[in-house]
Amino acid sequence: MPDVAAEARRRRTFAIISHPDAGKTTLTEKLLLFGGAIQMAGSVKGRKAARHATSDWMKLEQERGISVTSSVMQFPYGDHIVNLLDTPGHADFGEDTYRVLTAVDSALMVIDVAKGVEERTIKLMEVCRMRDTPIMTFINKLDREGKDPIELLDEVETVLGIQCAPVTWPIGMGKRLKGVVHLVSGEVHLYEQGRNFTRQDSTIFASIDDPQLEARIGAQMLSELRDELELVQGASHSFDLDEYRAGRQTPVFFGSAVNNFGVQPLLDFFVRHAPSPQSRETTGRVVAADEPRLSGFVFKIQANMDPQHRDRVAFMRVCSGRFEAGMKAFHVRTGKEMKLANALTFMASDREIAAEAYPGDVIGIHNHGTISIGDTFTEGEQFTFTGIPNFAPELFRRARLRDPLKLKQLQKGLEQLSEEGATQFFRPLMSNDLILGAVGVLQFDVAAYRLKAEYGVDAIFEPVGVSTTRWIRCDSEKKLEEFREKNAMNLGLDAAGELVYLAPSRVNLQLAQERWPDVRFDATREAA
Ligand code: GDP
Repeated sequence: MPDVAAEARRRRTFAIISHPDAGKTTLTEKLLLFGGAIQMAGSVKGRKAARHATSDWMKLEQERGISVTSSVMQFPYGDHIVNLLDTPGHADFGEDTYRVLTAVDSALMVIDVAKGVEERTIKLMEVCRMRDTPIMTFINKLDREGKDPIELLDEVETVLGIQCAPVTWPIGMGKRLKGVVHLVSGEVHLYEQGRNFTRQDSTIFASIDDPQLEARIGAQMLSELRDELELVQGASHSFDLDEYRAGRQTPVFFGSAVNNFGVQPLLDFFVRHAPSPQSRETTGRVVAADEPRLSGFVFKIQANMDPQHRDRVAFMRVCSGRFEAGMKAFHVRTGKEMKLANALTFMASDREIAAEAYPGDVIGIHNHGTISIGDTFTEGEQFTFTGIPNFAPELFRRARLRDPLKLKQLQKGLEQLSEEGATQFFRPLMSNDLILGAVGVLQFDVAAYRLKAEYGVDAIFEPVGVSTTRWIRCDSEKKLEEFREKNAMNLGLDAAGELVYLAPSRVNLQLAQERWPDVRFDATREAA
């Protein structure tokens, strides 16, 4: 009998967050290398390119040099199973990133030593804070000249509002980089070039008092280091597991991803202290990870991995119990049993058919549009995981066809694209317009490109008089009816058939809210 609790305990599911170019991809490669998942660093990018070639629309990603999709990588490390969920890097895809972060138990923040805290890091941090996600920090590119480490910690504390507990401390930087000291174990990891393809990342001395250390780094540097460590230990916080788990303190590591330096201490500390799958809230009750029965929620949909087959893969995070190949599960939103056939797991080597999966794992379920973001699967129980919202988009365009006979295909295409979550599709009650909303302008290009490639529809997106939308809720049927009648001009339905207020301006929205105090105008819709 498989032990769900033990399997859950050894899992670590996390995402890396960073400003573009800080080194997320490089660090991912190195982590996979330690996991033994790939033989040579560099193959993450190679694999990405190969996957891109299978889907036509992804050419757009290649042309623009951005990553629209996020993927899942699983690798073993020691006794642990690590699930790394990739977050899309481009600023336009914040919503997708948000949902990936709902599916993890912790995060790893990468900061460029020369640039410090950057704008996108701040935004991602805000998202993590909404759920008190525990965060570890890796300060990268230590082989280059950067900011003073003490100032950097200060910057993280003041700008991001989280306490720092340095776990490793750099010995020099840039050309003078000699290594890092592990403040918890006392070990010294020396920096040696040419180690970046091996698993053992450095020569390790047991402490700074090792007599050989002076020979390696020089008497002056050693004495500077002693002074600095005294200062750091006096002025900074030491690691506190509870504070970290509560999202109030971040352990900090220094290193150089591209040189594979400082990564192993990070990974070792991570598997030891990062949380295993946690209990999760639902509309019914709190679900504990070690419960024997399967439950999970869909946080991402990726369509047309195979363009010939309108095929879509729903990414489900397992929250409790055990998944077994071919099992049936209860799709709570439709109330139907569904066979989870050919579910995929995401071992870093490749996509594979899943034999089994446990809490913290992600499986990919093939379907033809029946599964939506936010959907919950159980073994029969009626509850829905909460906290996986849709955001009101901020940019709107009307879809116009060059060939009016393709209206049906256009509508279908827009509906399916919006199921993936990056764009949202609205139909006003009083006109035949098809309106697409997005959080970033690039998404309209992606939509036009995909409509053509996958649905054979030549559409353009033109400006439309909508400035923001709100989902409408009202406890009183009567009031809602009255509201609908009086505001029909500004109302529409989203792809799921939910009532939405399409505000021509912010002022108009504000007036409507004042005029209808009993009606709720929600900026997010929790997928029900
Ligand atoms: P991402 O956009 O966050 O995924 O960043 P990448 O991993 O693609 O890295 C951005 C650039 O920084 C690439 O040119 C990397 O080779 C480089 N880079 C990554 N880590 C290091 C490092 O430790 N030192 C130096 N000097 N460059 C690095």
